[in-house]
Amino acid sequence: MSMTGVQIYKFLPKTNCKICGFPTCLAFAMKVAQKSIAITECPDLSEESKMALESAARPPIQLVTMGADEKKIEVGGEVVMFRHEKTFHHPPGLVIRLKDSAPLEENLKRVETVAGYEVERVGMMFTADGFAIENDSGDGAAFAKLVAAVAETAPSPLVLMSSQPDAMKAALEKAGTLRPLVYAATADNWSDMTELAKAHGCPLAVAAGDGLENLAGLVEQVADKGIENIVLDPGGRDYLSSLTQLTQIRRLALKNNFRPMGYPVITFPGEGTSNTEDESMLAGQQVAKYAGIIVLDHFSPSIMYPLLTLRLNIYTDPQKPIQMQPGLYPIGNPKEDSPVCVTTNFSLTYFAVAGELESSAFPSWLMVCDTEGLSVLTAWAAGKFDAERIAKATKEFNITGSVNHQRLVIPGHLAVLRGELEEELSGWDILVGPREAVDLGTFLKKRWKG
Ligand code: SF4
Repeated sequence: MSMTGVQIYKFLPKTNCKICGFPTCLAFAMKVAQKSIAITECPDLSEESKMALESAARPPIQLVTMGADEKKIEVGGEVVMFRHEKTFHHPPGLVIRLKDSAPLEENLKRVETVAGYEVERVGMMFTADGFAIENDSGDGAAFAKLVAAVAETAPSPLVLMSSQPDAMKAALEKAGTLRPLVYAATADNWSDMTELAKAHGCPLAVAAGDGLENLAGLVEQVADKGIENIVLDPGGRDYLSSLTQLTQIRRLALKNNFRPMGYPVITFPGEGTSNTEDESMLAGQQVAKYAGIIVLDHFSPSIMYPLLTLRLNIYTDPQKPIQMQPGLYPIGNPKEDSPVCVTTNFSLTYFAVAGELESSAFPSWLMVCDTEGLSVLTAWAAGKFDAERIAKATKEFNITGSVNHQRLVIPGHLAVLRGELEEELSGWDILVGPREAVDLGTFLKKRWKG
């Protein structure tokens, strides 16, 4: 949590010796609070003060990274309970579980399917984030073999799941530089698992399985051994216990600044449900509140796409909608006599309209007005999508330089602007398009004459 200059000042020697280059300790404290100078520039700081300041400067929820630099998952680091307070920054990683008890070929086929899955949403590409490999067979050699094969086939962030330190050691040696999450330190094995995580520079999951109190105790033991990158498994698996525990953990970390709970959480929605649909719904709940890594037992595009969409929505700044750059966009291969349709720069609206134009028989020009990322009706109601703005955009983007006509198709919801727009754009013919983008193709077929 950030400290104010006055809070930092309380830890300083208050001798105003000027060695740090500032005339007073208070001036120095203010600069430290602004993060323009490091606290270590004061040579007279006591060890206790240094430790207190460093500990206060740590985020309330540790940011934990797993995976190599080329492909990694960063989770935690959140500072608020609710996304209307401030953006959630680090979306949960969605990883697919593989069990070493299944035939290797079957697992590798699954890895290839998952690795080949890619979906576009509002101009961005999304994929699954990695794999959780479980030592379900209890055979350390089979576990290490699967880890090696996955690391070679699709090097991506991994969760290695075994309660046996020997099996974990062999698997970590095969994971190379992938820096997997070691799952998990328990009351029985925490000392060995801690040593392994430290030796390989990996984050470590801690699982107590019987309530947050025991989990906190175990986390403190692990942290005392020098592990900073910790992931919590509070043990709750069904809808209610998962929601309760994840909310309690977030509250304890943010509101009570309770360090042992200040880490991201791993969840296993497939273990609390009995079918694919339920697993997907529970995973959705955990995307919203407050998972860091979600291990899925099932994989299919029909599970992944809604989860990826939900995740995108939850982890987008609500005050800054995803926007397109305003401008004139060619859709298909438009010519001088092609239609010019008007829309807003809210990404979702843009892609809905562009998609329909693309699949219509009419290559078109799409004029995207700056509505500060608002959709058609919201922008109109807020006074950000009116005749004046559309007319201004028509001139700014030099529409007449691209087409040989003076006709615009405006969204059906803006029919009320037609007269005003014809006044603003003297000589232009304003066509009121359909209310829904899906009807654009039919509309152009009936009404557009090149
Ligand atoms: S060096 Fe330390 S004690 Fe001296 S003025 Fe700066 S902050 Fe104060």
